[in-house]
Amino acid sequence: MSSNTPPTTVESTVSQPGDEEEVTSAVATARRQLEHAAAHLDIDSNIIERLKYPAAVHEVTVPVERDDGTVDVFTGYRAHHDSVRGPYKGGLRYHPGVTREECIGLSMWMTWKCAVMDLPFGGAKGGIVVDPKELSTSEKERLTRRFTDEIRDTIGPNKDIPAPDMGTDSQTMSWIMDAYSMQEAETLPGVVTGKPPVIGGSYGREEAPGRSVALIAREACNYYDYSPTETTVAVQGFGSVGANAARLLDEWGAIVVAVSNVNGAAYDPAGLDPHKIPSHDEEPEAVTDYADEIIGNDELLTLDVDLLIPAAIGDVITEANADSIQAHLIVEGANGPTTFAADEILAERDIPVVPDILANAGGVTVSYFEWLQDINRRSWSLEEVQDELDQEMMSAWNDVRAEVEKRDVTWRDAAYIVALSRLVDAHANRGLWP
Ligand code: GLU
Repeated sequence: MSSNTPPTTVESTVSQPGDEEEVTSAVATARRQLEHAAAHLDIDSNIIERLKYPAAVHEVTVPVERDDGTVDVFTGYRAHHDSVRGPYKGGLRYHPGVTREECIGLSMWMTWKCAVMDLPFGGAKGGIVVDPKELSTSEKERLTRRFTDEIRDTIGPNKDIPAPDMGTDSQTMSWIMDAYSMQEAETLPGVVTGKPPVIGGSYGREEAPGRSVALIAREACNYYDYSPTETTVAVQGFGSVGANAARLLDEWGAIVVAVSNVNGAAYDPAGLDPHKIPSHDEEPEAVTDYADEIIGNDELLTLDVDLLIPAAIGDVITEANADSIQAHLIVEGANGPTTFAADEILAERDIPVVPDILANAGGVTVSYFEWLQDINRRSWSLEEVQDELDQEMMSAWNDVRAEVEKRDVTWRDAAYIVALSRLVDAHANRGLWP
């Protein structure tokens, strides 16, 4: 396992800001966004320079015995970006496309996300390069327990607190909590969030990212004067984020015309009922069985709707399709769905993009509530969680909206400005050690 990496190694293993061929990687996008937003602020460039790099990236080898007795070896990562405001915090994904650089970029977005929400956490992200669909449940359990052991020194309730992300869920978090607690010889629920409530998870955590996307989308629609009952919405991705956002928006009167999964989109210009379409967790890859008209994911992204919510994966709105987007407003449900080049095109076309670090921040916000419940050994009701979440989201929305209005910048720049102001202040106060 690596620890703090000396600068020479960082230089050689992490692509540099401005590296053209990296333009759609999460880390390149995150750095360009950082530079773009920092240009609006009169702040110490040394601190911005530090924020372009992770504090550490832990890479581990995870051998797993398959059900047939053979052993396969997987690679896992945990990237720690910045912890000036509190313990590292962020998800853990199981996906064949996981890379070291992706984890770094995603860990940077977690730092900004926690700072926009004013949570006392820094940013982390991890993952294992694996297709979870190709593992049995017991293989997934062995993989998770061994990975937990490999990163045991780097995580902990006051150090780094993982959570679910793509390909992981509350069961994965339960195994991590158990493996960690067994090794520490005490039950430590605060080591991960996104657990089932029966072992210290929080009510409302599962729905929280989708709920925050819906709340922010509703505020954005109001801001741009779209009538709640006439707003048409297309949602890419019908996992936890997309399905929960689509259902809430439908309940609040919006007309959800398209929802999709990896195979395509169910489409009805008169409006679908997202409650009748099973989410990925309820019935995997079933979306296209539930509508008469099926369109492709590319077509969904360019539908003539008021509101587009990309809630599936990263890098779906790119230089190649940004000119064809017809939506009037984009609210990001996934992490990093819009590349830097696409952002510039959309800004020129006056299509507002409300960024991931604000819109889907409900997940980490309820993770914070879960962590508070764990360390205080008490449980909040669902109503309490939802009320607190709604308040936190409105407060962050107001902070970001104030920057949009004051500086005439994009929503992404405004969210970065809110986050960076807090981070730079914290760094300035703590100073550089030694
Ligand atoms: N994976 C989620 C995200 O990207 C949640 C992270 C967390 O709760 O720590 O925001």
